[in-house]
Amino acid sequence: MSMSRHQLEALRRSTVLVVAGADAALSLVELLVDAGVGRVVVVQQGGEKSVMFQAVTPSDTSLEIRSFNESGGVNALESLLPEVDLVVETVLDWQVKLGLSDLAMRLGKALIHSGVVGHRYQIYFIKPGKSACLRCVLPGVGIEDFPLGPVAPHPLKAVETWAGSLMALDAIKYLADLGVIQTTTLWRIDPLSGDIEAVRNLASVKDCPDCGLPFKSH
Ligand SMILES: [Zn+2]
Repeated sequence: MSMSRHQLEALRRSTVLVVAGADAALSLVELLVDAGVGRVVVVQQGGEKSVMFQAVTPSDTSLEIRSFNESGGVNALESLLPEVDLVVETVLDWQVKLGLSDLAMRLGKALIHSGVVGHRYQIYFIKPGKSACLRCVLPGVGIEDFPLGPVAPHPLKAVETWAGSLMALDAIKYLADLGVIQTTTLWRIDPLSGDIEAVRNLASVKDCPDCGLPFKSH
């Protein structure tokens, strides 16, 4: 897969907001920087971990690291969203994940969701107007009772890095308009069995106040 000058330029002009919790965010940010994404804004939940991003050496990327204002919750991110092209989250708190999905749908921003469920990782590219929002998807993928408090990241960093790499690939494809992105499929990667399961047909739900909104392009 080689990229044209036009596609590289599209990456250079792009801004990605990474709402970081699990370590997958680190490999994700490294790969976005490596691919030449122009601006990456990292909002880190749990300020003590933001130091890990400082080891990423941005070449031509403007890398901004901010701490997540816990008291403001997701609303603290609202002013940031209009200036970004894509949001990627590895948040450990399901309430924040759902709030972020609501916000992204309302503002018409594509969102890559990821989360650890048991020993598996799930990754889902949510495109406003096409994909079901996170609230609509969770019951269908067997998550009716999501934990109310923050969950732990995956115990194996190799799995976090794998997930970060998959998210980076989707982000690069989206921003540079390369290949195909599955916008109605949630991927579940199982590091123990080696299986990658696809939960398909997660289209936006007409009656939903979040994903049923008319399509708005980013
Ligand atoms: Zn919905």
